[in-house]
Amino acid sequence: MVDGFRPVTLQETLNIRSQYNCTPIAGGTDLMVQKARGFALKPGFEQPLLFIGHLPELQKIVIKNNQIHIGSGLLLTDLLNSEIIPEIFKEAVRLMASPPSRNLASIGGNICNASPAGDTLPYLYAVDAKLVLKSVRSERLVSIGEFITGPKQTALGQDELLTEIIIPNKIFNVNYYKKVGQRKGMSLTKAVFLGMTDIKNDNLTDIRIAFGSVSPKIVRSREIERTIVGKPTFEMITAIPEILAKYALLIRPIDDARSTAVYRKKVSLRLLEDFLRKIDKEK
Ligand SMILES: Cc1cc2nc3c(=O)[nH]c(=O)nc-3n(C[C@H](O)[C@H](O)[C@H](O)COP(=O)(O)OP(=O)(O)OC[C@H]3O[C@@H](n4cnc5c(N)ncnc54)[C@H](O)[C@@H]3O)c2cc1C
Repeated sequence: MVDGFRPVTLQETLNIRSQYNCTPIAGGTDLMVQKARGFALKPGFEQPLLFIGHLPELQKIVIKNNQIHIGSGLLLTDLLNSEIIPEIFKEAVRLMASPPSRNLASIGGNICNASPAGDTLPYLYAVDAKLVLKSVRSERLVSIGEFITGPKQTALGQDELLTEIIIPNKIFNVNYYKKVGQRKGMSLTKAVFLGMTDIKNDNLTDIRIAFGSVSPKIVRSREIERTIVGKPTFEMITAIPEILAKYALLIRPIDDARSTAVYRKKVSLRLLEDFLRKIDKEK
């Protein structure tokens, strides 16, 4: 048997977290795989589990001050069923795992697992998502970029829980999302590309570009984005080789069971080029 706590309220959960070394578990779709030890053997958890997936306080999704507040315990299926989640984010979620897994897997779990291949992450980086981290002693707000400190590494304190994810209530004019895997469903990600932009009077007024699965962390460069914003689209098109060269320096994939570094880099840059050319066609 694995020891565990199943508190009823968030306050009770935070109290337990402050008193015991325990592992939060929401859907368990990452944890159970990571801790599996083989057929008929109990998973190898070193510390008691703290079940949080059922907590009502983590299941809310609301718009406040033009920002969408998403409870960390919301399932991927809940995001797909919500009318307020932007369609481009849903597109990413729809391609994750399979319907049974999406009925168990939480958004908070995908973030806290901090995998470079986490498929909610490119969108959350692109919109500068803020995370609410709560403990009995404090509540703090950190950006997703500050929270994920490396592959499988986060800034979550020993007594903290991720309770809420805050994203802007905004839809961009042009949206582009591509996940490259072996197949459409239940596909392990080789590379992910997300691009979003706003255009006004033929000028690019905002642009967000994020790559997943091709570096230890999600690749997003505000510096390169700033060099594109303000340009008329025809000027951006002529600058495409320069833009690709800049991102080529940031994309540092690895060879693994899912793909090769060479393929990942090539396909990522091609997707970026496709997005930039699409902007001109859709303006
Ligand atoms: C068959 C299969 C297919 C998959 N396909 C995909 C895919 O296509 N794309 C993808 O990105 N992922 C995929 N995954 C991985 C996984 O389903 C997702 O990452 C999922 O969102 C994890 O959520 P969970 O609730 O199950 O997390 P859990 O396994 O419960 O937790 C994951 C980690 O987060 C921590 N944690 C969870 N919630 C909190 C919280 N609120 N506060 C603090 N810490 C917390 C846990 O302690 C643990 O370290 C797949 C997994 C499986 C088994």
